Amino acid sequence: MLLDKYVEVSVTARNFNHYKNLGYNIPMQYDEKTKSYKMIVGSKILVKFEDIPKNSHKEIKYQCDACGGIFETKVADWNKRKISDDVTYCKNCAIKLLLPERLLEKYGVRNVTKLPFVIEKQKKTNLDKYGVEWAVASDVVQEKRKSLFMKNTVLIIR
Ligand SMILES: [Zn+2]
Repeated sequence: MLLDKYVEVSVTARNFNHYKNLGYNIPMQYDEKTKSYKMIVGSKILVKFEDIPKNSHKEIKYQCDACGGIFETKVADWNKRKISDDVTYCKNCAIKLLLPERLLEKYGVRNVTKLPFVIEKQKKTNLDKYGVEWAVASDVVQEKRKSLFMKNTVLIIR
């Protein structure tokens, strides 16, 4: 859910016409030299979220509908990632909630680790890194596990 229905923006030479054409009242000042009114660069105006250019890098606040957390994102990213008008998820929740559904739709699995090409890629990574297809099998990993186990385990000797 979008929290910022209105957003404060600074008026610049680039966005002046955009907001002027939408009917916003932009602070102007009289310039003695040119005998005309000029906009005051950098003055702040409050604009409706819908009126901000879709590709704007302006930060806006939203609340995740799943975890209730409040997050910030760029307007451009918000417009890109919005799934529907009524639901908003933060990155973490989107991965947790939406990824399994998308995977199920597309590949018929709920977990990426079940995908053949992910398995192949994992094997290749392991092969490059440890010289074996599965990391558990490598001596390096075995040793690491052992030392980690020793570090986290208090041995009681009677
Ligand atoms: Zn969330």
